[in-house]
Amino acid sequence: MRTSGWSVAKPELFDWLTYTDERGEQVAADAIGPRVTAEFERTHPGWQYDPLIPVTVVPGWNSFYALEGFEGIRCPRCGEVSENAMQLIGEWDETHRAPEAVCERCGLQAMLEDWHLRDAIAFAWVGVVADLPGCESALLQELQAALGGKWVHIHLHL
Ligand SMILES: [Zn+2]
Repeated sequence: MRTSGWSVAKPELFDWLTYTDERGEQVAADAIGPRVTAEFERTHPGWQYDPLIPVTVVPGWNSFYALEGFEGIRCPRCGEVSENAMQLIGEWDETHRAPEAVCERCGLQAMLEDWHLRDAIAFAWVGVVADLPGCESALLQELQAALGGKWVHIHLHL
């Protein structure tokens, strides 16, 4: 994140959304980097952004949850919220593998990680938690290209 300009080291910065590591210690945050500030200035000229917006890389198995923005897991084909998919959330967390869900509306069969999770929940061994309006898709594409695996954007709404 630092090398590619998304964040800069900022000792003693923590996200108030407290994340803890496997030893139960609070995970330290970086601050937004030059790429983020450049994007903010490009998309919101004159906007007074906070240079201490935390960027936290969260290690270990965690859930990333939309909180107040939770609408449910939507089918990637028909867009309907699926109860079948929702019932597999616990299994995903326990087994550390995204189970396959079948959409009751259109019959689509897909691994949960391939459903629309933006306004729902995802589980992952590593996550990046940050408020980066306008930068989400660029960051997502870069993480995907650099690290592989499956990356999704969860919109956490308070
Ligand atoms: Zn469907």
